[in-house]
Amino acid sequence: MLIPASEKQADMAEGTTNPFESLQSQIDEAATHLEIGDDLIERLKHPERVLETNLTVERDDGELERFTAFRSQFNADRGPYKGGIRYHPQVSRDEVKALSGWMTYKTAIVDIPLGGGKGGIIIDPDEYSDDELERVTRTFATELRPLIGEDRDIPAPDVNTGQREMNWIKDTYESLENTTEPGVITGKNLASGGSEGRVEATGRSTVIAAREAFDYLDKDLEGATVAVQGYGNAGWIAAKLIDEMGATVVAASDSSGGIYNPDGFDPVAAKDHKNETGSILGYEESVEELTNEDVLTMDVDLLIPAALENAIDADLAENVSADVISEAANGPLTPAADEVLEDEDVFVIPDILANAGGVTVSYFEWVQNRQRFYWSESKVNDELEEIIVDAFDALVDTLEEHDLDNPRTAAYVVAIQRVADAFEEAGTFP
Ligand code: GLU
Repeated sequence: MLIPASEKQADMAEGTTNPFESLQSQIDEAATHLEIGDDLIERLKHPERVLETNLTVERDDGELERFTAFRSQFNADRGPYKGGIRYHPQVSRDEVKALSGWMTYKTAIVDIPLGGGKGGIIIDPDEYSDDELERVTRTFATELRPLIGEDRDIPAPDVNTGQREMNWIKDTYESLENTTEPGVITGKNLASGGSEGRVEATGRSTVIAAREAFDYLDKDLEGATVAVQGYGNAGWIAAKLIDEMGATVVAASDSSGGIYNPDGFDPVAAKDHKNETGSILGYEESVEELTNEDVLTMDVDLLIPAALENAIDADLAENVSADVISEAANGPLTPAADEVLEDEDVFVIPDILANAGGVTVSYFEWVQNRQRFYWSESKVNDELEEIIVDAFDALVDTLEEHDLDNPRTAAYVVAIQRVADAFEEAGTFP
């Protein structure tokens, strides 16, 4: 019998901000500062194509289950589509479209020769065995096969996916194609052709961008207080690296709640506690339990949202007390929240720059795969540093040149112009 997939695959729940509309409003806002015709802007607001597919997968007990999955190929004007694949019950077509658009402008602001794409499966991975997840992943890889390739579309990890899933996708693709093509996917483990520094890269760019922002605002990072919402791969590594830069991480949360210590705590030990117990709560250095909302509104110098979209809406934004926000997550502020924070002079380093370290080191991985020549970790980190600092400088130059108040708008002005330039060079076909 074919069991229907979960009810959760309906489109965005009512009352939630639709991330695809958020993306489009960010583009519209930037377009008012650009001399690009409405016809081209219209192109830049929509994906080129979206695959929607139903995967039929056998459960361990022999029953069949259907999973809906997507791959949105947003734009390839600057290079092959590039972006992760997420496994989450709230994945939807519009979410994947938005995320693929954000990837397009992310690869453009850091000026790497790639486009934007994103995929997702509506699934709660905690509900399935490792064998089931392998079959789900390999079935999706089979569906993706005609669309992907190192010069076509290069997937990568995202929420709830990592090296294991990337290795399965690579193996499925290479088996079906009867080839070796490690550059078809990034975020692999080292043995399968991954890059040094890839796992840490998203957290690393989040803190490099924060350091540049503090410098620009003449604020001292040494001793600055930091709150981190979300303690997955991006969040905990950002916490670890900002602590190493001399800042004090005073609060952090995961989906079960938050911890607090005004004198700071050891971010690595907190992660070890989470690994052992499944939650950040109960970590011994914490002196108070917080809600997720407490962490987001805490009076700190730097806030790092590192979970999902729409973490901060306009109401919550009214209570945000941080001076600087570095967005490790994709789309953590609704556009209405962004406006509130702009009015309150909070310096928001947008996701497309702050978390671009992940895709930047994916680019390095792809380059290494194609050259079959591998770099040291220090080379990866040095090259990443240079790219993020250059992107931040381009953002600030545009902020000042156009007399803008919102760093996100400045980032989009730079990024959209780059994509439009590539399109205009190529023209339309046929
Ligand atoms: N999923 C990550 C992002 O949202 C990385 C994508 C990639 O490496 O291609 O940027």
